[in-house]
Amino acid sequence: MEILHVSAESYPYAKAGGLADVVGALPKYQQQLGHVVKVVVPMHRTKFLYDNEWDTVHKGAIMLASTFLEYTIIKEKTNKLGFDFYCVDIFGLLDRQKVYGYDDDTERFVAFQIAVVDWLSNWQHRPDVVHVHDYHAGLIPFMMRHCYVYNHLAGIPAVLTIHNAQYQGWMGWDKANYLPNWDSWHRGLLEWDNTINPLACAVKCADKVTTVSPSYMEELRYSANGLEKLFEYEKGKCTGILNGIDTLVWNTQTDTYILDNFSAKDVVAGKKLNKKKLCDDFDLDIDKPLFIYIGRLVGEKAAELLPQAIIDCYEKVDSKINFLILGSGDPSVERQLERMRSHFMGYYNSQIGYNEKLAHQMYAGADFLLMPSRVEPCGLNQMYALRYGTIPIVRNTGGLKDTVKDIGEPNGYGINFNEPTVNDIVYSVTRALELYNAPKKMQAIQKQIMAIDNSWDKSAESYIQLYNEVH
Ligand code: ADP
Repeated sequence: MEILHVSAESYPYAKAGGLADVVGALPKYQQQLGHVVKVVVPMHRTKFLYDNEWDTVHKGAIMLASTFLEYTIIKEKTNKLGFDFYCVDIFGLLDRQKVYGYDDDTERFVAFQIAVVDWLSNWQHRPDVVHVHDYHAGLIPFMMRHCYVYNHLAGIPAVLTIHNAQYQGWMGWDKANYLPNWDSWHRGLLEWDNTINPLACAVKCADKVTTVSPSYMEELRYSANGLEKLFEYEKGKCTGILNGIDTLVWNTQTDTYILDNFSAKDVVAGKKLNKKKLCDDFDLDIDKPLFIYIGRLVGEKAAELLPQAIIDCYEKVDSKINFLILGSGDPSVERQLERMRSHFMGYYNSQIGYNEKLAHQMYAGADFLLMPSRVEPCGLNQMYALRYGTIPIVRNTGGLKDTVKDIGEPNGYGINFNEPTVNDIVYSVTRALELYNAPKKMQAIQKQIMAIDNSWDKSAESYIQLYNEVH
């Protein structure tokens, strides 16, 4: 089977979050299952772009409303990612440093999608499935079916994966002319709530829709940033398939980012050495438990609760447990987390920013990972933590609910709580401390969690089965 994935991000080329991890790993595992897999992303100015050699495979031109745009498709020469990797370059529009965050993101992503469909319409053959990810690629199924110049592609099955339904790519109707001439009888497919909604459009036009965990799929029918009814109507074609993790990248025995490689057998000694390095680097106390948070500092992750929760933990639970925070996002949360450094010197620290290496070191050296998320479609951090012997403390939502079993249950190995509140976080930290103070139990759990199989093997197969249903 030949599969074309279309996404805004793909690790290690360009990463802003979990979407990149998935679109970097799933294609690799699908290719290993014997399929021909291609990934296409916008050309961002990343290190990977400059460190690798590229062939130009196609040149073309599109119109974005009345603007004429030339585009180029380049392909990484050596197939080093394990699948065919393509970028779309549109001079001045896509060749930027960051993946998102520009005023003209709407124009950028619409142009990207038109270029992908235009390129596809020039292929000598058809792929068996086009797999689009999130709203950045969400107009593609519509364009393949209802834009006059491209509707010869209508027969190609399209699958949508929703990594995060909070972001929908809303565009005013004044931008409807950005799309190549389309059949106005199908206006309703573009629309949700009086605006063009690319995510809703993709849900309506795709043959199958997946989300990245079964629980998140359920939740979307009750809470989907305005699309609840749509998910209820379309539930027949929706499925939740849990993300996997790339066990070649996330492997404690081979990870070159961490100080000391270890396995489940020597987890205690291995984690201790990694913890020592973290504690030395960040002026923390090696003899106290280390709680970490890694992620975007945004409301979805309930990050604004962190400062007060940490202060309450120091006041009510233990005045000298360690917290180390890595993330960026809401400037006021960033400021609070930075200011706290001087108040809790010696057992609290934070690094504001994005740091892949440090993230690996933190998963390896920490005792507990905190994820109080309000919304968590799948969540990868908790799975990385499990693989690195770090016990996850998670709110019962989305993929967190599907991947972490509370220590109170038979064979449980994590700490779960129900509400994204300071009180629930503080109470969970208390429970974590009880576990920390029972070293035999804690060590048994560390060994247990490192052996949990969250690899892509099973999920990659589930996607193939899904393609077969629409192929
Ligand atoms: P989301 O995609 O919603 O941000 P996920 O849990 O699905 O959340 O994926 C987050 C990914 O981004 C993980 O690989 C995590 O380690 C990484 N990550 C998030 N923030 C940072 C950061 N500040 N530094 C390094 N890695 C980060």
